[in-house]
Amino acid sequence: MQNKMNLLRDLQEIDLEISAIETTRQNYLDELDTFAADATRVQAMLDQLNDEVAQLQHDEAELQQGLLKERDNVTRVEARLPEIQTQKEYVAVLKEIDIAKKANKDVEEQMQAKQQEVTTLESDLLEKEGELAAIQEKSEGRGAELKQLLAESEEVLLKRTQTRESVAAELPVSLLRKYHTLFKRRGGLALVLARNGACLGCHMQLPPQQYNRLLQVHEIQTCPHCNRILYVDTEK
Ligand SMILES: [Zn+2]
Repeated sequence: MQNKMNLLRDLQEIDLEISAIETTRQNYLDELDTFAADATRVQAMLDQLNDEVAQLQHDEAELQQGLLKERDNVTRVEARLPEIQTQKEYVAVLKEIDIAKKANKDVEEQMQAKQQEVTTLESDLLEKEGELAAIQEKSEGRGAELKQLLAESEEVLLKRTQTRESVAAELPVSLLRKYHTLFKRRGGLALVLARNGACLGCHMQLPPQQYNRLLQVHEIQTCPHCNRILYVDTEK
């Protein structure tokens, strides 16, 4: 019986170590995911900025084309001026030219506004590119470290799992099953010390006759309050 209890205690110790290693590994993986998520997020902003710049440049090119056409028009109309015969027609053409020039000025202003917007977006782009480069640099450095840590912890995990299996193989299946259920349900503490007549898992007092039987270490006993498997310090 004492041997079984010792094996169970070993098992619990290894299992706690295994779950600590697994938690640490999960943290490493989460950290790697964070880098990837950050890079994706900044890349999405960059893509959007690039789209906006492309759209603005497209608009600007269209305005530019319209402007050139309109300027040609003005030149052509102006060339007609010397041939005009009547005062009335002359005034009409001048008015036409004036309207066209004003319209062109509007277009030029619109183009300037677009250029201004592009300049602003380009400085945003530079900033985001810097941000992305910083994330990538960090992710390469820390990422390599994390991968190394993951590889190392995987080895440790493998060894612990092997040890665990050899310890578990020595225990009866029914006891092992009970232990497993408790380990999951009781947050990794299936086996607890009983001292001075109390269970140290739930800190409740045990029935005195149960505690006495427990001290004799003849059978597996569980706490009537929290159901954990009890053991006593027999070395002291
Ligand atoms: Zn208890």
